[in-house]
Amino acid sequence: MNIHFMNNNQLTLHFDKAMVRERIKNARSICILSHRNPDGDAIGSALALYHLLKKWNKKVNVVLPNFYPDFLGWIPGANHIHIIEKDKKRADEFINEADVLFFLDFNTESRISEVIDTVNKSKALKIHIDHHPHPDIKSDVMINITAVSSTAELLYWTCLELDWLKEMDTIIATCFYVGIMTDTGCFSHNASARSTFVVISELLANNIDNEDIYYKIYNNYSFNRMKLLGYCLNEKLEHIPELNTAFISINAEELERFNYQVGDTEGFVNYPLSIQGVRFSVLFTEKDNLVKISLRSKGDFAVNKFSATHFNGGGHMNAAGGSSKLSLSDTLVQFREVLKEYAHELSD
Ligand code: 5GP
Ligand code: MN
Repeated sequence: MNIHFMNNNQLTLHFDKAMVRERIKNARSICILSHRNPDGDAIGSALALYHLLKKWNKKVNVVLPNFYPDFLGWIPGANHIHIIEKDKKRADEFINEADVLFFLDFNTESRISEVIDTVNKSKALKIHIDHHPHPDIKSDVMINITAVSSTAELLYWTCLELDWLKEMDTIIATCFYVGIMTDTGCFSHNASARSTFVVISELLANNIDNEDIYYKIYNNYSFNRMKLLGYCLNEKLEHIPELNTAFISINAEELERFNYQVGDTEGFVNYPLSIQGVRFSVLFTEKDNLVKISLRSKGDFAVNKFSATHFNGGGHMNAAGGSSKLSLSDTLVQFREVLKEYAHELSD
């Protein structure tokens, strides 16, 4: 079944709206799950939905595997988010007692691996709203459209279909805005559909302060984070011009030297992409005995496939993540090696 129709300024979704409305109406407890290393879209969409559902006096819990970065902590409701890493038993209870489970902004079970057994045993109605390709999550209602800018935008259109947006207020609109703004790099990518700006226009009509939101997210870094960025660009940036590739690697000692806090390396992966000619950019970060890998591309080089093939990851065509269990230096050797296989795609 074709679940959506997109014209210039409206996204129409086809799913069993009456059933969803009824199940939500009768639900006592609802649990919203999003992915590990949550970004602005994960937090923004989860909290927009949280505030909406709270309007009907439902018990609502937002559950995430690990902490969100500091620069997202100001978003209204963030202090109510439950972190699995902190208390897994409580997270399991929230999932077990839920009559409805929402899965927002992730496409694969591994992104909520800590609670996936509890989720799979649950008899709740499972609603999956996401814009990552190739979802493999079991759900009863799946609203998955890759062409949409962000999960927050897709959630907006879903809520419109359900006739829930009458409840919109400044707080809810702020949460939606954070999701769309951050997932589009401030409207610089995945933001060529008019429908995205129709949503933004509606959010502005709800008195959000978009300049303040921008400032709180992008002009809110610590001194140490700024110094770490400078160090990475100056000392740790490598360029492979013949493959139009550039990458940055950071080891655990360096993170410690700059007093690393969760989220400090957010956005670093985008810098190499602004080098003339570079189409593929990677950030390797040694964290928690793993190497976390962030990948970005311009054009049609599919970093989600690259990451799935070599680094146990996935994501979008132009933005993906992954990891390696090898040491940082061995990971870099492997990366340089496998990169050669892509010479036909990456070289001019
Ligand atoms: P980031 O580099 O910002 O961590 O992630 C970029 C994109 O890839 C996001 O859409 C994120 O959800 C996705 N992503 C990050 N890490 C993983 C991973 O390990 N597996 C999968 N499937 N997707 C990931
Ligand atoms: Mn997203």
